[in-house]
Amino acid sequence: MDLETLWKTALGEIELSVPPAEFITWFKGTSLSQVKDGCATIVVANNFAKEWMEGRCAKTIVTALAKQDPQIKTICCRVGAPKVAENKPRPIDALSKNTSVSTSKLKPFQHKPRPTALNPRYTFANFIVGSHNELAHAAARSITDELGTLYNPLFVYGHVGLGKTHLLQAIGNEIIRKDPDKKIIYISAEKFATELIDAIQNKTIADFKRMYQQIDLLIIDDVQFISGKEKTQDEFFHIFNTLYQKNKQIIISSDRPPQEIATLEDRLRSRFEGGMIADIGQPDLETRVAILQQKAKERNLLLPEDAAIYIASHIGNNVRELEGALNKVAAICDFQNLTPSLKTVEDILSPLINQKTSRVTPQKVIETVCEHFNVSVNDILSKKRQQSIVRPRQFIMYILREQLSCSYPEIGSHCGGRDHTTVMHACRKVEKQLQADREVQETLTALLEKLRFTTV
Ligand code: ADP
Ligand code: MG
Repeated sequence: MDLETLWKTALGEIELSVPPAEFITWFKGTSLSQVKDGCATIVVANNFAKEWMEGRCAKTIVTALAKQDPQIKTICCRVGAPKVAENKPRPIDALSKNTSVSTSKLKPFQHKPRPTALNPRYTFANFIVGSHNELAHAAARSITDELGTLYNPLFVYGHVGLGKTHLLQAIGNEIIRKDPDKKIIYISAEKFATELIDAIQNKTIADFKRMYQQIDLLIIDDVQFISGKEKTQDEFFHIFNTLYQKNKQIIISSDRPPQEIATLEDRLRSRFEGGMIADIGQPDLETRVAILQQKAKERNLLLPEDAAIYIASHIGNNVRELEGALNKVAAICDFQNLTPSLKTVEDILSPLINQKTSRVTPQKVIETVCEHFNVSVNDILSKKRQQSIVRPRQFIMYILREQLSCSYPEIGSHCGGRDHTTVMHACRKVEKQLQADREVQETLTALLEKLRFTTV
């Protein structure tokens, strides 16, 4: 297997075992430069990434690589030029991290790469509609006909990997297609916060605000990231109001509904709730098969229906994971010159499926956290309120919420029949502490690592 295919296949695997934000942060632009004496050399963007990869992530990477080449026993990282983003579809939307304004002024340069952060591959044409996303899709479509007046803001929420970014960018792409002069900003809330801080530090805040106030459409992806960031929320609120008053369209996505975003200012929450709120749920089997077939078509991969059904029924509901599995099938078939059949797909994916079924369960989270803090599971489930028990209990609740996406009532029942408001309070508390307290950050990282190690 050549290095590129080897790394691509390994990335497909790694993507399934690290949170999406981590994956984008650390793995975007990386490449494999050589494999020698059992050591794989990975080219990363900076020393920080090198440290992180070699320290925290080595085991996950080695496991993924060794599945393709069992001789690989260790990794080392070298700082080098990042790989230029490819045009070919990638499972992860690396481009979505950039902002840009698409303005008519930029037009003379259109022979250069598109100056917009909108990824042109996210369109309505390749977005499959099922009962899980019908409402969000209908709202999105109607917005493209009546920008700013019909549903404003449009707030789309749903778990990760279910198509929010795709849908939001499809709106942006459709607007640009209809009228290339429309000014659009697509930005993740995380990036918005970083750019805001930069603007404050560089004393360019006035320009920053002006840029936002001149646009026709503002798309903020993953707005939950601004929760707890007061300054960011404040600026966002003012930008939001200016645009709203001018009947400019605002579209927001989040992994949860506004009322569940911890430490979101009430004035923002009520603004969000003032427009249209649409959720994206879990796609059913039929829709998952249709999505896989669409993705296979985009890659010119002939995927028989029984093979698509096998993938859709074994990999689960998360579309990003389905795509990861399909990418793996495509890479291996490509490399070994195989035509994907039910048998080949089964052979390729069964190790992954077996691994998935041994994934972290709520029970595992409780046990692992108890072990880490040296407390008993019974104490966690009990009514005891000593700090030594409350703290691990709060971590458990937070991890169940963030990593396993359990609902608040579900978490309450896993943790000894507690009320959902107690759980919500605990999750918010940890979330707040994580922003300020290094020790809490380190504890969480250690716990997540322990949990991840038990799953491989
Ligand atoms: P989210 O932003 O909700 O985490 P994404 O929009 O990044 O999810 O979706 C993950 C992947 O799944 C993307 O490659 C996207 O194209 C694909 N996807 C999700 N839903 C659909 C759909 N309904 N039709 C086609 N592709 C989809
Ligand atoms: Mg997204």
